[in-house]
Amino acid sequence: MSLIKYFLWLIFPKRCACCNRVIERYQNVCEECSTKLEKNKKICVKCGSDKRYCICKFRTYHFKGCVGPFDKNDETMQVIHHFKDDDNCDVAEFLAEEMMPTINEYYSDVKFDGVCAVPSHWTKKFYKGYNHSELLANKIAYSMNLNYYNNLYKKRKTQIQHKLKPQERYENVKDAYGCKPLYGCKNILLIDDIKTTGATLDECSRQIMFAGAENVYCATSILNNSKSCNVQRKHI
Ligand SMILES: [Zn+2]
Ligand SMILES: [Zn+2]
Repeated sequence: MSLIKYFLWLIFPKRCACCNRVIERYQNVCEECSTKLEKNKKICVKCGSDKRYCICKFRTYHFKGCVGPFDKNDETMQVIHHFKDDDNCDVAEFLAEEMMPTINEYYSDVKFDGVCAVPSHWTKKFYKGYNHSELLANKIAYSMNLNYYNNLYKKRKTQIQHKLKPQERYENVKDAYGCKPLYGCKNILLIDDIKTTGATLDECSRQIMFAGAENVYCATSILNNSKSCNVQRKHI
């Protein structure tokens, strides 16, 4: 660690991505939180659900797969809260690091041609200064030595997805996104922070395929694999 970095660390100590308490500089989360962050175990790569609640029989998506390291619980959602609402961009480093082994494990036989991120509306990005999914996607693209394509864009504002019923989520995002042509890209890795019903990822995948890509594979930091979420999805 350089002297400047050391002094910066003294002034701005590193904080746990989950509970925000001060941690050692080599850590991303404190020891207590690291045991509470629930990891996904057996997921169906195709629909991104816990294998016990796989919904492939009930729904098909435009994307080929969806994977992610964490399940949704209070602690993992606290990390997302620090990332999105508290503007703690250091959390992106932690989430991207956690996503990488999952991507490498499940998509080991896929040769990606580039990375895209689920976009926010330009007004939101303008006021916030960044798009959180883009931060994750940039870090992942850099680690995988792939191009990041800023081709996806949001055409209109949408309602907040988690406040809507499953069917409403699909209607909410329908034709809300667009994608500039992706020349020579067969396989695209699409990044977002969290997957619940998969409606946003599905719509973005559809647009990416319109733009010329053959296959879209998704990766998010959290997969909401709660049984209730998947039971609801069966009725879509
Ligand atoms: Zn903690
Ligand atoms: Zn499935």
